[in-house]
Amino acid sequence: MIAPAPRSLWHDTLPDGDLLRQRPQLSGPTEADVAIVGGGYTGLWTAYYLARRDPGLRIVVLEKDFAGFGASGRNGGWLSNLLPLSWEAIAAESSREGAVAWQRAADATVDEVLAVARDEGIDAQATKGGFLCVATTELQAARLRESVDRAREWDFGDDDLRWLSRAEARERVAADRIYGGTWSPHCAAVHPARLVRGLAAAVERLGVTIHESTPVTEIAPHTARTPFGDVTADVVVRALEGYTPTLAASRRDLLPLYSLMLATEPLPDDFWKEVDWSGRETLSDDRRLIIYAQRTADGRIAIGGRGAPYRLGSRIRPAHEQARGVHEMIRHSLVELFPQLADAEITHRWGGVLGVPRDWWPSVHLDRETGLARAGGYAGDGVALTNLAGRTLADLITGEDSDLTRLPWVGHRSPRFEPEPLRWVGVNTGLHLAAAIDERERRTGRPAAVLDRVMTRLTGH
Ligand SMILES: Cc1cc2nc3c(=O)[nH]c(=O)nc-3n(C[C@H](O)[C@H](O)[C@H](O)COP(=O)(O)OP(=O)(O)OC[C@H]3O[C@@H](n4cnc5c(N)ncnc54)[C@H](O)[C@@H]3O)c2cc1C
Repeated sequence: MIAPAPRSLWHDTLPDGDLLRQRPQLSGPTEADVAIVGGGYTGLWTAYYLARRDPGLRIVVLEKDFAGFGASGRNGGWLSNLLPLSWEAIAAESSREGAVAWQRAADATVDEVLAVARDEGIDAQATKGGFLCVATTELQAARLRESVDRAREWDFGDDDLRWLSRAEARERVAADRIYGGTWSPHCAAVHPARLVRGLAAAVERLGVTIHESTPVTEIAPHTARTPFGDVTADVVVRALEGYTPTLAASRRDLLPLYSLMLATEPLPDDFWKEVDWSGRETLSDDRRLIIYAQRTADGRIAIGGRGAPYRLGSRIRPAHEQARGVHEMIRHSLVELFPQLADAEITHRWGGVLGVPRDWWPSVHLDRETGLARAGGYAGDGVALTNLAGRTLADLITGEDSDLTRLPWVGHRSPRFEPEPLRWVGVNTGLHLAAAIDERERRTGRPAAVLDRVMTRLTGH
C-alpha cells in the first residue's frame, strides 16, 4: 500500500507547475493605498473587488507562504450559503430582517463566485448540485424534518430547503442506511485550490501586487511590519483567519480549529453506477462533530471532519495535520456511508485550520482612523462568505454605503477567548462532549439532552 500523501489533494492536483511559480518577496519599505495581510480567499477577494472598483488603487497582498497555502487551498470545497450561527442568534442581536438579509446575501454569493470564476476563466471544476444532508438515524431524520419546519417559519421555501424521503435521498446519492434527508440548491462543489490560485492570477491581472514568502510580524495603525521592511498604507486589512492568533496582539481574537480531510483514489465506474451522485451534491449527515464530503471532478470522494484536538496556546504545526485517530474516524464514516469502499485506497490525508470566534459570529470591520480593517471568523463556512466579506470590505474602504455594509456582521464584536489554560480545557471539553453526544445518540436513538445543554453552556453553540 502506498503511504497517503500528507499534502492537500487540492494542492496536489493543481495544473502542472502551478505551485512552482513563486511570487517575489517584498524587497524593502513600501507605500500603498491598501495593504492586505494574508493571501487566501478573504485577502484576494478584497483585493479583487477593490481593484475592480478603483483601478488606480495601489494594492499589495502580503502572504507568508504562497497564495492559497492556508484553509483556502485545503478545504472541503463546499461553496455554500451556510452561516455558522442560527437566524435566531442573528435576529437577537439585530432584527429578523437583518438575519434574512444576511442569509439572502449568502445565497446570492454562491452564484457570484461562480460568475466571477466563469468571467475570469478560472476552472474551479465547479458543479452547483446543492447540498444533501442525510439522516443516518431516526433521530437525525426527526431533527432534519424540524430544520425544514424552522426554515418555513423564517419564510424560506421549498426552493431553499426541502425534505427528501429515503427513496428521494437515495436517488441522488445511494448511501447506505439512510432514513431520508434535506436538500438545498444553494451549494456548489468546487476544487478549492484551483479557485484560490485562479483568483490570485485574476487579481494580478487587475494590477494588484502579491508578495509571497513575506510574513507580517505585526499590524499597527496604517502599517504592516515584515522582516523586509514596513508597508505603510491608508488601510491595512487583516485576512488571516485561523492564523490570526500567530500575531501577538491578536492571540485571543480567533481560535485555530483543525479540520482534517482525506481523499480516496479515483473510484471505478461500477461504484459510480451503483451510487450515482451524478449531481455532485455536497454530502453530510446531522451529527454534532460534522463530516462533509464531495464527489470530485476526477471521480474520488474527498471527505473531512472535525474532532482533532485544539493545541495549547493556539499552536499551529504541520504535524497537527496528521491525527491518526481522527483520520481513521473519517474513514470509518466514509465506509459507513459506502460499505463498498472498505478497501478503497486512501491517497491523501491532510488538514488545516479554520478560524472560530468565541461566539461563532463572523465579522467585517473597518476603523477609518487607524486604517485597520479585518474580516473572518467564518468557523468552517468561509468558501463563499469570504467573497461576501471581500465585497463588503471593498464597499467600506471606498466609502460606499450599500446593502452589504448594513448587514448584521459588519462591525460585530465577538468576545475574546479565555486565557490559557482555560481556553484549552474549554475547547477540548467541548470537542469531547460533541463526540459523546453523537455516540450516545447513535447508541440509544434518543436525544442526549443533558450533555447537549452542558455543551451549549460551555461553548455557546
Ligand atoms: C480542512 C478544512 C475544510 C474546510 N471546508 C470548508 C468547506 O467545505 N466549505 C466552507 O465554506 N469552508 C470550509 N472551510 C473553511 C474555509 O476554507 C475558510 O473559511 C476560508 O478558506 C478562509 O479563507 P481566508 O482567506 O480567510 O483564510 P486562509 O485561507 O487560511 O488564508 C490566510 C492566509 O494567511 C497566510 N498567513 C498566515 N500568517 C501570516 C502572516 N503572519 N503574514 C502573512 N500571511 C500570513 C496563510 O499562509 C494563509 O494563506 C474549511 C477549512 C478547512 C481547514
